[in-house]
Parts: sequence; structure tokens; C-alpha cells
Amino acid sequence: MGTVNTVLGPIPTEQLGITAVHEHINFGQNGWYLESDSWHPISGTIARAESQLADFRALGGRTYVDLTGIGNFRSVELYRVIARATGINFVACTGFWTGMGTRPFFWDKPVEYLTELFIKEITVGIDDTAAKAGVIKVGVSHRGLSDMDRKIYTAAGRAAVATGVPILTHLSTDAMTQLDILEAQGLSPDRVVIGHADAGVDVDRRRDLEVARRGAYVGIDNIGYETEKTPRVPWAQARRDRLRQLLDLLDAGFADRVAVSADADVQPLGWVSPPHSVAELLNQFVPDLRAEGIDEAIINTLLVANPARLLTMQEV
Ligand SMILES: [Zn+2]
Repeated sequence: MGTVNTVLGPIPTEQLGITAVHEHINFGQNGWYLESDSWHPISGTIARAESQLADFRALGGRTYVDLTGIGNFRSVELYRVIARATGINFVACTGFWTGMGTRPFFWDKPVEYLTELFIKEITVGIDDTAAKAGVIKVGVSHRGLSDMDRKIYTAAGRAAVATGVPILTHLSTDAMTQLDILEAQGLSPDRVVIGHADAGVDVDRRRDLEVARRGAYVGIDNIGYETEKTPRVPWAQARRDRLRQLLDLLDAGFADRVAVSADADVQPLGWVSPPHSVAELLNQFVPDLRAEGIDEAIINTLLVANPARLLTMQEV
């Protein structure tokens, strides 16, 4: 029987249930706190988070994975308050949004330092808490993989091999190179989600199939960022087009190679999100799938079986 690290301790895989694998309580680019207009009372964030996660739970949701990495306002203490109030299994990450988002403090650190940092957060705890990270976050800086991105990917691949946790990425840009770097560290592609394949600026159906064939998960994880909403963010996609993108993967027989989530940010820090909640995964996306005649077994694969297989820590 496998286990998954949550902020309140490890739990058996069987308890995961319906899971959103890529979400945020609050996310701000490094430096957001230098702009006083970006500050929000923490009580408001907690109230909104508890309300949205309670909606998610009322619709059947059980597990929430926060992919806010180091330096983007990750807060284990906050996550524990929300987890206790809602009864949701809350998984936190180690790692970074992208190399571009790291502070100068990390720039001249060697791969070995970053590897040890990630391993420490997975096996001992995040910051000075005993809450162990359940996943590793990495990402591609906007114009492709930077040197810092590559260093982070190398460290993340080594830490994933050493600890058995999976890796989830920000952006599908350079997907094959991302997998090349991780595989070179000895990591199997089936331990990786290539994220935001459904970002409107980055849709590539042929790439989706290549990622799935290679054995990694295709992240259809911007669900709810729709061009129909305002303000329109660059990564929005028309609701029908995103659905079609997913249906193509299902038609090709890759239901077990898709990771779904909303990437909703309960409290954006220093940026403005359209109205969005993790609950949309269950009250909009699932009805859309049913309207297309997708059967319950496939919906269960997307929401329960795939996250369970992905998140379960591998024997090392
Ligand atoms: Zn995200």
C-alpha cells in the first residue's frame, strides 16, 4: 500500500479520492510584496480558500495539491489551517515555478545544493515545519529552458529518483527536452506531468500525443481559464477548444496519460485573475464531459485513478 505526503502527515493512497493535481492558495511573482496594493488580509484569503475548498468537497473532491513553489508565497502554516477547516487532504510542493522566478540567492548554487534542498523538504519537512512535500514543481522560463531551469530540472529529477515523489511542470514548451533532462537523471517519464498543455498560447496536439506516447502525463490543468471570461489572461483557451483537446487524447486511447486540474488561484498576489475556483473542475468540466458521452469509468480515471498512480510515493 502506498502513501502520499500531506501537510498534516502521510496518508494511504486509498484516501485520495477525487484529486486536483495543480492548484494554488496564493501565488505571487517574487517581489509582489514590494507593491503595497497587492497586500490582502490573510483572513480574507483563508475565508475564500475555505469556501472554495468546501465547494470542491461538497461536489465530491477530497485532495488538493498546491503547486506554489519556493519564493512564490508558499505557506505551510496557512495550508494547515485550511486543511483542518475543510477536511481536504492538502499536498504541498517543493521546487520552483521557473528558473526565471528564483531569487539571486539561488543563482550560483550548484545542482547538488538544490537536490539536497528538495530531498530535505520531501523527507524532513518544508521550511522549519515537519510538513513533508508530496511533489516537486519545476517550470520553463518564457522563451524556453534557461540554464537555471535546466539546473532545477536536473536537481528535481535526482530528488524524484531519491524520494519517489512525482514532478509536475509549469508549461509544455520544449516538452521533449524537459523529459530528456529528467530521464537522464534516471527518472521514468510516467513520474512526470508536462503541465499547462492546454494554455491557449501553447496548444500543440501533436506534442500532446508525443508526451503521452513517451509515457508522461499531459497536463490539461488550466481548466476554467477561458477566453469567455474577463479579464482575459494570455493562457486562456475557449472552453470548447480545451474540451476538444482533451477528447482527442481520449480518442487516441490516452485517458490514463492525462492529468486534470484548474490551476485556480484563491488569492492572486500582484496580478488579476478572472473568476475561478477549483470547484469548476467538478461543476463545469465534468458536466461538459458527460454531455459529450464520456462514461463514468473514464471520468474516474481522470479524477481518481491517474492522480492516485501519480502521487503515490514510489519505493526507492
Ligand atoms: Zn500553477
